[in-house]
Parts: sequence; structure tokens; C-alpha cells
Amino acid sequence: MSTEKLPTRSENYSEWYNQLIQRAELADYAPVRGCMVVRPYGWALWENIQQSLDQRFKATGHVNAAFPLLIPKSFLEKEKEHVEGFSPELAVVTIGGGQELEEPLVVRPTSETIIGYMYSKWIKSYRDLPVLINQWANVVRWEMRTRLFLRTLEFYWQEGHTAHATAEEAQEETIRMLDTYAAFAEEDAAIPVIRGRKSEVEKFAGAVASYSIEAMMGDTKALQSGTSHNLGQNFAKAFDIQYLDKNNELQYCWTTSWGVSTRLIGAIIMTHGDDQGLILPPRLAPIQAVIVPIFKNDEEKTLVMPVVQKIAAELAGIRVKVDDRTEVNPGFKFNDWEMRGVPLRIEIGPKDVEKGSVALARRDKPGREGKSFVPQAGIAAQVAALLAEIQQALYDRAVAFRDAHIQEPADYEALKVMVQDGWAYAYWCGSLDCEAKIKEDTKATTRCIPMNQQVGPGKCIVCGQPASDKAYFAKAY
Ligand SMILES: [Zn+2]
Repeated sequence: MSTEKLPTRSENYSEWYNQLIQRAELADYAPVRGCMVVRPYGWALWENIQQSLDQRFKATGHVNAAFPLLIPKSFLEKEKEHVEGFSPELAVVTIGGGQELEEPLVVRPTSETIIGYMYSKWIKSYRDLPVLINQWANVVRWEMRTRLFLRTLEFYWQEGHTAHATAEEAQEETIRMLDTYAAFAEEDAAIPVIRGRKSEVEKFAGAVASYSIEAMMGDTKALQSGTSHNLGQNFAKAFDIQYLDKNNELQYCWTTSWGVSTRLIGAIIMTHGDDQGLILPPRLAPIQAVIVPIFKNDEEKTLVMPVVQKIAAELAGIRVKVDDRTEVNPGFKFNDWEMRGVPLRIEIGPKDVEKGSVALARRDKPGREGKSFVPQAGIAAQVAALLAEIQQALYDRAVAFRDAHIQEPADYEALKVMVQDGWAYAYWCGSLDCEAKIKEDTKATTRCIPMNQQVGPGKCIVCGQPASDKAYFAKAY
């Protein structure tokens, strides 16, 4: 690791982000433009994200399967809106085994179409419903402007695809998964999110309605962190997914799809990170606590190391690492683990051995404020409690930051100023023109329209026409 300081967030947020990812060894650039290599530390973080989500999916009745990477090009052309939405982003395979293929194959940008095709074969009767399948996979979208974790040509994600007998069930499922994402984001990633419906312009190609969770990053830009789509009968009709109902009548299914991706790692970096580097929420951190032994000579080392080993053994219930590197000094190690965002550092030196204590340093509170000295006895309970406290503190801090940067503008002029450094929450009539005008004037887009609003009728912030809902407007990644 280089000892050079990161650019600060206020100096250059985007450079801070790029350098942090490299220096914390989360990911690197691949030889193909726009692709990324996820390094072991970044992948360990992704595995923890996967594990938590996978448990939540299974707890709501879903099962995992794997569908192929290559999809006949004609499949994408079956749903009109879908093909229009994805055409420019498709990677197409035209040669295989040295021969020109009869039908070109696309590298999946998402699996709606091939799963639709399979569902039409598998679903025959109302007894086969609902089908609740998820897959963990990689997908390819030929993006022109890429950023590590936020937008890459190939990325990792999960995509859930479900089929139901009724419109109501499909809508319930769509919202259930949106809520599942929100619970994961808030409980495990410590990222507060706003749930809502996407506008027509921002919705998924081929969906009847799309919903998202939106999070505010450290530069106040919004990041769409997960989406859930009600596909109505659009894909069922395109792929002929039909079932015989109880009256022996043929009906089209109602389908949904929902996904989150390695983008969530970008969300974690930009929600919690500071000028020293990454800060990971304890529940997802690959290393929750690092033990740094401190000694100046062999004599001190013989004193310190047995205590270090004993403490590490007592902390078996948490993800702990002993940094016993001898080629670097403790100061270097402190900076290194700060950069990598390990939530808690445990220092053990000769004085601690003498006193029967250890020094704890919180990553989220640098310097003296985050430091405490606790007895070695009962260390496991102390550390567990402190990790829970850090998890909560990160969430509370993110909520406070977000709420301080969301305002309700009195008029359109105020909105224009507000979205330069925050989000605006305002009445919108729903017209494409008003939405386009905001985007043109400010670069801010409609993030989402929260459900169950208790706001009553008002006037559109742009045109003054009657509006029944408020929407969030912000610049976004
Ligand atoms: Zn309007």
C-alpha cells in the first residue's frame, strides 16, 4: 500500500472514490475498457452482501437456479419496449467454433427473456404457481461511460424472476422484494433508503411499474441501489406463459423481476467513507476487528504475542484478523486498516499486558474520541457490543446527513438551487415535459415517487398545474 494520502472528498470526490477502491484493494481495472476485476477483499465484501440477501430471499420462499449466459437474439426482440431499451447496450456473438452462427446470440444484459421462455415450458396449471426463482449471475451491458462498481460493462448481481396467477399477487411480490432490499440496506449496509415508484421515463424497459430504493451518497448525489419491477402480463404475452386456472380456462401469468448488484459496494463506499478511506458497516465487513500487536524488541514480543493469541481465540465468534506482519511498523498498519475500513482496531502492547487491558479504536470516530481501554476479561462481549454500536452510529450519521440535504422548495427557482447540493422533494404533475425541463435546467432527474404519501393535492413545482404526489429530484450516479 502506498503511504500517500488520498485526495480529500471536498477536493475531488470522484478521485477520492477511484483511488480509495484501488488503495483498499477492492477492485482494479481490467484490460478490456469498462470491465473490472473484483479483488479478494472486494469479493469478500460482496460474499457477505450475497449471504445476507440470499437468506432474506429464501426466508420469503424463493429458490436459486442458474440460466445460461447466451440468449438467442430473437428472444430480446419479442418484447418491443425491452428490445428498444437494451439494443444499444447489447454484446452480440456472431461467430462460434470458427463458424458464422445462423442466429446471433446476445450475452445476457438481464435474463427476463430466456427465463420467460423456460417458464412457458414449465408452467401449465394454477398448481405450478407461484414460481419464485432467483439467480446470482454476471451480466453485460455495453456502457460507454464506466466507473468501478457503479457502472461497468460486466457486473455481478442477482435477478429474481417470479410468475403469479393474479395481478394482485404480482404487485405484492414486487413490493415485498422492494421492502426486502430496503431492510437489507438499512439493517446490514447501514444505508438509509427511500422507497418509491420510478417515473415512466426512468422505469425498466417492458415493466408496467418499476420501484427503487434510493440512497444519498456523501456528495449528496442519489444512487439507485435496488429495483423491483411489476412486469404485468407483458412478458407472459411475449413468451406465451399461460396456465389453466381452476375453471380450466387458459390465463396469462403475471410476472415480476427484481435485482441488486455490485453497485451496492459503491453505495457503501460513498455513504460511509471518509478522507482516511473506507468505513465498512460491521455486519458486512470481511474483517470486523483487526488486532495489532505493539512491541519494540524480542523481549516485548514474547510478552505481547501470547496475549494477542489468547484474545484472538476468545474473539472466535467475530471476523478477526491478527496483523503480525514484521516488515511494517504499527503506524503503517493503523493507516492500512483505516484505508480498508475495518470497523474496530484492537491494540495490545507491553503496558496492556501489564494492566490486563487492551486499547480499542473505532474506525468511525478517528483519534481520541473513538479510543477506549477495556479489560481483557470479557473482551468478546465488549467487542460485540461495540460493533453493534458502530453499526448503529453509521446508520444514524447517514440519516442525519441525508435529512440535512433534502428540502422542500417553495418554487421552481428554489428547486434549481437546491439540487446543486442536495435533493428536492416537490409536487410534480407527472408530465414528461415538466420532468424533462428539470433535467435540462439542472441535470437532476426524478428519483422516485414515494408510496402511501399523505400529502394531499398540490401544485406542480414546474408548471403550477394540479398534482397529487410529490417526487424526489436529484442528480444521480
Ligand atoms: Zn407540471
